[in-house]
This record gives sequence, C-alpha cells and structure tokens, in this order.
Amino acid sequence: MQFQTEVNQLLQLMIHSLYSNKEIFLRELISNASDALDKLNFLSVSDDAYKNLKFEPKIELKLDKDKKTLTISDNGIGMNKDDLINHLGTIAKSGTKSFLENLSGDAKKDSQLIGQFGVGFYSAFMVADKIEVLSKKALEDKAYLWTSDASGYEIEKAQKDTQGTSITLHLKDEEFLNEFKIENIVEKYSNHIQFPIFMEKEEFVPLSEEEQKENKEPKKELKISQINKANALWTLSKSSLKANDYENFYEQNFHDTNKPLLYIHTKSEGKLEYNSLFFIPQNAPFDLYRVDYQSGLKLYVKRVFISDDDKELLPTYLRFVRGIIDVEDLPLNVSREILQENAILKGVKEASVKKILGELHKLKEKDKEKYLSFFRNFGRVLKEGLYGFSTEKESLLKLMYFKSSKGTDLRSLEEYKNDLVDEQKEIFYITGSSESLLRNSPLLEDYKARNVEVLLLDEEIDSIIMPMLGEFEGLKFTAINQVEDKNELSEEEKQNFAPFLAKFKELLKDEVEDVRLTSRLKDSPSCIVYDKNKPDFAMQQLLKQMGQEQNVKPILELNPKHSIFSRLKENESFIPDVAILTLNMAKLSEGMGVENASEFNASLSKIITKALS
Ligand code: ADP
Ligand code: MG
Repeated sequence: MQFQTEVNQLLQLMIHSLYSNKEIFLRELISNASDALDKLNFLSVSDDAYKNLKFEPKIELKLDKDKKTLTISDNGIGMNKDDLINHLGTIAKSGTKSFLENLSGDAKKDSQLIGQFGVGFYSAFMVADKIEVLSKKALEDKAYLWTSDASGYEIEKAQKDTQGTSITLHLKDEEFLNEFKIENIVEKYSNHIQFPIFMEKEEFVPLSEEEQKENKEPKKELKISQINKANALWTLSKSSLKANDYENFYEQNFHDTNKPLLYIHTKSEGKLEYNSLFFIPQNAPFDLYRVDYQSGLKLYVKRVFISDDDKELLPTYLRFVRGIIDVEDLPLNVSREILQENAILKGVKEASVKKILGELHKLKEKDKEKYLSFFRNFGRVLKEGLYGFSTEKESLLKLMYFKSSKGTDLRSLEEYKNDLVDEQKEIFYITGSSESLLRNSPLLEDYKARNVEVLLLDEEIDSIIMPMLGEFEGLKFTAINQVEDKNELSEEEKQNFAPFLAKFKELLKDEVEDVRLTSRLKDSPSCIVYDKNKPDFAMQQLLKQMGQEQNVKPILELNPKHSIFSRLKENESFIPDVAILTLNMAKLSEGMGVENASEFNASLSKIITKALS
C-alpha cells in the first residue's frame, strides 16, 4: 500500500534531514507503548468487556545482534488492520501538517519538534531501514504484521498469542545495538514512564564453589531486568518520600554530586493540575552567567518527557533552579510556540515562582546562615528579577541582602528599616566598583557621623537596578552621590571662600561641571558628586561597555572647614596646585583614576618640596 502524501514527505525528512538527535526514536516508541498501556489500563477498569483480561502492563526491549534488530514490545491495547492503516499509513491528526509547516530547516531544532507534534512513530525511520509492526488488538482474534521500508507498506495476517504490539527495527548501523546505550537512553528520557521497562541483558552469573575451585572462566547469561524506575518520584505523595529519596533523585537526574540546598515538592490539584519538584543547588552551575546557559528544568506532560531546554518555564532570574514540571492538562502534541503562550503553562509558571520565592522567604526566617549561603551563590542572579517591571518586586526586595556601612555583616532591607535614624525617609546607598573603595568614600563621612546606614553596592548590575527601584515600604532609594548638600555652612564661611571658589571654577572649567562648597564632608577636603538626572561614574562605566559612551563631567565639592583651605589663604600662589590635587584626590577615592598624571605629579612634587623646606 501507498503512504498518504504527507506521510511520504515526512518519511523523506526523517530519513534524509532529521538525524542530529536520532536517539529520541526510542522515547517516541516507548511513549507510544506507554499510551497503549494507558488505554488498556483504563478499559480494564472502566469496561466490563475487558474485566477478564489478565493484564500486567509492561514494556520489553530486546536486541538481536546477529539480525541487527531492536524490538520494542508492549502488552497494551494493540492495533487491528484498520488501526494499522489509519494510524501508521495516513495521518488523520492535524499534527503532521503543522509539523511540516513548522520546519525551520535547522535539523537539530526540527528533530526536537517530532515529539511535540505527535509524529513520533515515523522517527523510527531515522535509525531503521525496515520496520515490522506485529500487533493484536485486545479482545480480537486476529493478529497482523505491518512491514515497511519507508517507500510503502504491506499488511498481512500473522500469529501472535497475546494482545499488544511488537515493533522490530532493522537498524541501519551498530550504534544502537548496544544494551548500555539503550539503557542510557531509557534512563535519560523514559525513567519515569509509570510502567516497567524490561530488557534482556547479558550478565555474569556467579560461579559455584566447585567452579571457582576449578578456576573456570566467568559465565555470561541472558537475563531480563527492569531498566527504568517506573515511578515518577514527583507524583508520589510527599509523606511517602524521605529526604534521601529526593537527594538520590536529584543526583541521578541533575548530575550534581552535592546534595541540593533545598527541594520544593508541589502537588497541585483543582483548576491547574500539575506536579512540580524543584531543587536549589548548593553551588552555582558553571554556566550560570553564560548567555547560552542550559535550562535545569524538565517539562513532562502526563509523565512523558517533553523537553529539557525550555528556558521560559521559569523567569531567567531563577535559572539556577533545577527540577521537573509535570502538567496534566496539556496535549502531548503541542508545538513549542503554542506552549509558550499556553495559559496552563503560564499559570504553572506564576504559581511556581510564588512557591519558590515563598520557600526562600521561609528559609531566610528559619535558617539565616543557610539562606545567606544560598544568597552568596545566587543573590546576584536573583537581583536581576528587579530589573524593569516585576510583579515580584516586593517579595524579591525582601530576599535581598546588602553590604553596609554599619559593619561587615550583610543586611536586609527589613534590618535597615529597623535601624532608621530620626526622620529618615530614605534608604541610602552608594554604588562603585569595589567594596573597599566604597567603605572609604568621603561621601560616607557625614552619614557615619550621624549614624545613618548606607548600603554599599559594588556589583555592576547595581547601577542599573538601583535607580529603578523607587521605594521599599515607603522609604525612597537614594544614591548618596546624587543627594544635594544640606547646605549647613554659615554665611561667613561662604563669604570667606567666595574668591577661592571663583578661581577654582576658572582653573577646572574643562574638567568639572561645577565647583561648590559643601557641608557634607568631615575629614576629606573634597568629593565628587553628580547631578541626580545624569549618570554617575559607575553608570557611565557600564554605558561605555555597552558602547554608549557619555562623558558627563562631575561636580567637585570642597570642604571649606578643611585645614588645606585655611592654610591656602596664606599661600595663594599654590591655588592652581591645590585645585588640581583636591580634584584628583576626590576622583581617586571614587575609583576614577588620574587622567593627567604628569600635571598631578608636578603639583604634588611642588607641595612636598615646600613642606620639606
Ligand atoms: P501520537 O503518539 O502522537 O499519536 P505517533 O506517530 O507516535 O503519534 O503514533 C501514531 C499512532 O499509532 C498512535 O496515535 C497510536 O494510535 C498508534 N500506535 C503507535 N504505536 C502504538 C502501540 N505500541 N500500540 C498501539 N498503538 C500504537
Ligand atoms: Mg507517539
């Protein structure tokens, strides 16, 4: 018989272009076998006609190295002649058409579509040049053999004792004629099919004492053993599972030899029916900061593995989470594009984010040390969640810890809030490239004197995130290098200093936007600040990296109370040198570096010479 046109097209594709991920054929055939078992399972409990059927659902794999075949058998519902023609010769389902329409020409991507569009059976032609399907439908007498070499197919009457289907693949090459390989593929894709999968394997048999004495060669024997777990751990009740079960499962599935820091098992019933099992690793995965990081999440639909490279299952700021989402009410044959807009998956995603953040909050309350070890690894990534508009902003902010001028301990915003001073309505922070620079910034002097806490933000992402935050529980986030001076200088001080100020402005006009007096400094003679509508130095650095260089001149502030300036009155010829030095001192303490080193050195030498004379 001839295949329907679309099937022909599909087969040509399977054979000639989609070979980058061949091993998925086994997932597809096992998934079909599992479906067939599901169907008969359901009938045997729901339909009297099937009540007397002796039925122990199972799947069997058998390799024949001489004949170069792999046979996948199930004792499920089976197919009669019409079924074989309709299901394996024509494509009654819409999946094929959309599959063909969705092909991108990229073999790797396209082979991933196979499972999603329900054209799985034909994927067997990626590895086999001839396929035999021997099947007998439950409660029927006749069995049939369907044979195809992909150019067309034949159906003939056949002999089979029990109901179910045996699919024999005549393999094109030796690659899959290997028990170890097959076992690995089953473990990777089908470990959690809820039916047992057996395989005949050659195993060593223990020698008897007699044989040992005679120094006999070890014997091998064919043995049938179960090669999958056949239970989807995440579907089991939480009370039946121990920490150890979760830890083993994590190790086996996520290839991490460390125990997970946290596991979160959710069984959701009702409107959204799904099971999820999330793990937070102890250590950051190596590719955490790479653009092409691997997703750690596996999507299942009704226990059938769908994909492990969908980065949309959780927001990117949770990309360190490993785990499984198993949804009940999704068709197996939906495309990735449809998946992403799927309301059910969106619902699951939202609920999962809430759940994960909720558990992190609990951990933070219960075991601060453990939480902080989490935060040291993943806080930087979690912080990305604050970028732009985030519905979880409030929750994320409460999960944040910051370095602080108060001491060396990390501080949360709640702790900050508990230690406000007087009428304080702001959360003060300073951004810069290193902690030690920030700790020693002249801008901190006034805050330290008043015992007001300042958060020290030394991560690159901070200068992007912080200005977006607005406020936390009524407290406004405020960068201290963009705060205006409270102007607590006396009229007399200002008057006295006015002539100097004019000269400084003239001398430094190319390098700064303005020079002004300040009352915010205690020990330092000068500092650098910025207009609050313009990017500060840290932000400028970032913009530069992104190719958007902006040269914003800083504002130089001088502390008229400093001894440098009272002495300057008696040494007016040093004004140009002091102008250069006070500017560069302020720049250095901001981590900005000295641009004109020879000018700086000349002024410094002159003043040192004077001091020593
Ligand atoms: P899908 O599984 O999405 O329906 P496939 O191409 O994998 O698409 O399979 C096509 C159809 O062939 C199945 O829907 C099923 O009706 C039939 N079929 C395949 N394998 C078996 C099997 N082992 N037992 C019974 N029916 C099967
Ligand atoms: Mg299928």
